[in-house]
Amino acid sequence: MQDTMYFKNKLEDLKSQLHSRIHSIEKDIKHEGLSPDWTDQASERENDMVLDTLGHNAEIELLKIDAALDRLAVGEYELCSACGDNIPKARHELLPFTTLCVHCAKKIE
Ligand SMILES: [Zn+2]
Repeated sequence: MQDTMYFKNKLEDLKSQLHSRIHSIEKDIKHEGLSPDWTDQASERENDMVLDTLGHNAEIELLKIDAALDRLAVGEYELCSACGDNIPKARHELLPFTTLCVHCAKKIE
């Protein structure tokens, strides 16, 4: 039970970090007015594409965190979603939103 709370807090922390990251990325994309200089505009668009990818990655991470929180809620957080083995606490320390044990994660890689 203690661990559940511990990892729940950890995941919620990560989640709010991601939310503010996504927020600042979105703010960067919607910068006020494009500069009148055409070359600047081109580089700003390129920059937006990079920011889009960053935002996309952050959103995928957010989905993983939500899934992990769901698993915590139903008491399946410590179980590997592929083989049902226990996921060691040390692994969750490193990757709080992983749903696989080391062996299954290696198989997928
Ligand atoms: Zn496994």
